[in-house]
Amino acid sequence: MSAPEERYGDALEAAARHARQWLESQETRHVGPRVTAADLAADFGGPLPRDGTPAAEVVDYLATKAEPGLMAMPSGRFFGWVIGGTLPAALAADWLVSAWDQNAVLRYAAPAVSAIEEAAGNWLVGLLGLPEESDVGFVTGATMANFAGLAAARWRLMADAGWDLERDGLFGAPRIRCLVGRERHDSVDLALRYLGLGTPTPVPSDRQGRIIPAELERQLAEGSGPALVCLQAGNLHSGAFDPFAEAVRVAKDHGAWVHVDGAFGLWAAAVPGLSALTAGMDLADSWATDAHKTLNVPYDCGIVVVRDRTALRSSMGVHTSYLIQTGDGAGDPLETVPELSRRARGVPVWAALKSLGQAGVAGQVHRLAERASQLAEQLAALDGVEVLNDVDYTQVSLAFGDDATTRAVTARIIADGRVWMSGSRWR
Ligand SMILES: *Cc1c(COP(=O)(O)O)cnc(C)c1O
Repeated sequence: MSAPEERYGDALEAAARHARQWLESQETRHVGPRVTAADLAADFGGPLPRDGTPAAEVVDYLATKAEPGLMAMPSGRFFGWVIGGTLPAALAADWLVSAWDQNAVLRYAAPAVSAIEEAAGNWLVGLLGLPEESDVGFVTGATMANFAGLAAARWRLMADAGWDLERDGLFGAPRIRCLVGRERHDSVDLALRYLGLGTPTPVPSDRQGRIIPAELERQLAEGSGPALVCLQAGNLHSGAFDPFAEAVRVAKDHGAWVHVDGAFGLWAAAVPGLSALTAGMDLADSWATDAHKTLNVPYDCGIVVVRDRTALRSSMGVHTSYLIQTGDGAGDPLETVPELSRRARGVPVWAALKSLGQAGVAGQVHRLAERASQLAEQLAALDGVEVLNDVDYTQVSLAFGDDATTRAVTARIIADGRVWMSGSRWR
């Protein structure tokens, strides 16, 4: 067998060359893909050949054939949904994570990546102003971060109601009342569904999508028993934040667990000038966010933060004889995530935070918000363009007259290729 550098070298060099070409193309390329998945089916499909192909050739083929079907999401000219780019340090760290190929579930087996993720978790909790005693888990995205936070909530609410969830499951368990803002993200419903908690009860929100605390109060007062309240930092369409100080107080008065979906909005807490948006958020019990959005870490990476460590570890953790745990009190990554094998997703987060520093994170988020306001202002000055939201964070929602015209203009912009934007329906 040849030396590892020969076996891996050619393929890695080919990958690095193609990656650089891709990144260099971002400034000028047509943002949208020029082909459909169906167009590419023949290039990647057909019967699996009997014989193999040398690694470097595989990489060349893959990169060349994929090129026209890639969307320039990291280009800075992509305005679809909420999708981040990639910081150089985070991208390079992600490559190392692949090369290291650590199964990052046990401190004992993967000490380096465990220590790095733990440091990243501590930095995050500090940056976002969340309780120091919290546990942090690095998961695939905000959907699974919502899932993990809500699993901890379910465990705690059941335990406090005297119900042994591990032993008895959900059959015959006390019902948990799940209340969500009418404009919560669908991933909250999905997480509740995964957890067997059913469809949540929507609480009316204002025109920007913020939950109305008086309505929350009314609904909580109407019922009784364990309650779970999901609040939102950053509405997909408007970027609006729920009024945390008041909503958390109302929820806590009724003994509810409060979870915050802050997929992109939680990052406002890292910016001194935006702190009013998240004021009072730290009094919640669990928080979900994404690193692959506002922090600009490569896909995929979400983060869950839970104040009640026992609740998170009891709902996610597992203890068996073959998983050798160090027992030094720090806990293993597997106790904070819904996985028993996992990629060290916190390592690119560590690299992103280290490369930016506190001021850099704040600057990055602040710039995003500032550019959104500038963009909204310039667009609002044009004939026939209506900005639908109060822009005080990173989102801008537009209408170009009626729905049909908006659809037609969006299609024209996408075809032009200089920028890309997604269509949606709001209100
Ligand atoms: C993107 C988003 C999610 C889901 O995050 P994923 O990373 O796609 O799982 C949840 N909530 C909000 C508000 C979002 O913007």
